[in-house]
Amino acid sequence: MNTADSQRLASALEAIGYEAVEKPENADVVVLNTCMVRQSAEDRALGRLGSLKPAKKKNPNMIIGLMGCMVGYKDPKPLKKKLPWVDVFAPPSNPKPIVDYVISRQIANETRSETDEFVWHSGDIVLPKNQQGNAVSAYVPVVYGCSHACSYCIIPYKRGAERSRDPEEILSHARSLAAQGVKEITLLGQIIDRYGLDKEDYPKLPELLRRLNDIEGVERIRFLTSHPNWMTDELLKTVAELPRVMNHIEVPAQSGSDAVLESMRRGYTDAQYRDLIAKIRDTIPNVSIGTDIIVGFCGETEEQFEETVEQLSDLKLNVVHLARYSPRTGTLSERTMPDDVSDEEKWRRFRVIEKLQEDIAAEHHRKLMNQTVNVLFEEKKHRRWLGRTENMDLVFADSEKDLTGKLLPVKITWTSPWTMGGELC
Ligand code: SAH
Repeated sequence: MNTADSQRLASALEAIGYEAVEKPENADVVVLNTCMVRQSAEDRALGRLGSLKPAKKKNPNMIIGLMGCMVGYKDPKPLKKKLPWVDVFAPPSNPKPIVDYVISRQIANETRSETDEFVWHSGDIVLPKNQQGNAVSAYVPVVYGCSHACSYCIIPYKRGAERSRDPEEILSHARSLAAQGVKEITLLGQIIDRYGLDKEDYPKLPELLRRLNDIEGVERIRFLTSHPNWMTDELLKTVAELPRVMNHIEVPAQSGSDAVLESMRRGYTDAQYRDLIAKIRDTIPNVSIGTDIIVGFCGETEEQFEETVEQLSDLKLNVVHLARYSPRTGTLSERTMPDDVSDEEKWRRFRVIEKLQEDIAAEHHRKLMNQTVNVLFEEKKHRRWLGRTENMDLVFADSEKDLTGKLLPVKITWTSPWTMGGELC
């Protein structure tokens, strides 16, 4: 979400005369777009923010902006007191206050006249220059905020209530990306399968996918993240049916223990999650599935952790995004439940699942040996071309040609738990 928001901000700043530089110290405007989902993200943002202080001292005209979850959607006044070297604050997914502030400074410096026109775009987008011609894949937000309130999660407190984005805006965003050479779009929402459910007259996710599927130039469509309770049969059938919607689903379980799921306020059981995975696999041919897991949640016993291990070893999903529980100020779990699993134990549980998943992923990949898969190439890495299969698997291949944005069949010749390699057919 922040990647998409930063792209829109960069695009707007270029429209008012700025261009990207390599180092923040050399910039006239620096904006930090922040995440708070775990303590580690917050620490990183605070560290970067502190490191901008000397640069601002050297160049007092430097404009420093802070955006995203560290600002949140509420009044930023208390933050202004704490961070006096920050000039402007913007909530998540709304970079406009930053652009307005920069324009007001240009007018004050007389580098811009009040009559110079600037139109803020919330739909179509001009890619920032350093992404033009090489952006193969781009994110398109479709649901802002979240109203589910999982007990551990800070997102609703920072991004506000769930709001579906206007479908026409989404379509014009996607069309403009396609016109600039983007081949793959990934729709974003905290609970993306709720798209349109907060607005009576909006299309729902299956219909939105159908409309996007018709856009010339968009070769691949993905969406994340789904919540298990909102994955309808119609959605699964639509994914199976539409040629450009990829057979990859991100649907987090978070835990395999009913007691833990209950205290997380997730709203489903292990059995219901397993049934859903079976249904997804029945409905969508060759589907790959990703999950998120939090280890060491408040009160998680060894037995409850083992239930998660069992769920994962039974289901053999393709990807597991793993996190150690990190208490977030103001959330239900932080206020009412003890963070009673030690750091050491959280790490141990993390490694157990990491190892288990390494073996599962290796097995999935091994099955693709000598098979031909369609790869959308994105960039050159370690002197080889790197792309993704329809299932999101990473594939390396050699070529003298520029493969950026090329969708090509590749015969797999080696596999590992993390990546694969092959030869262009
Ligand atoms: N809306 C999505 C994704 C939310 S953030 C969902 O609910 O599934 C991405 C992931 O970060 C979550 O899925 C969860 O696994 C993790 N996460 C969120 N809050 C966390 C916390 N307090 N500590 C550790 N991991 C957390």
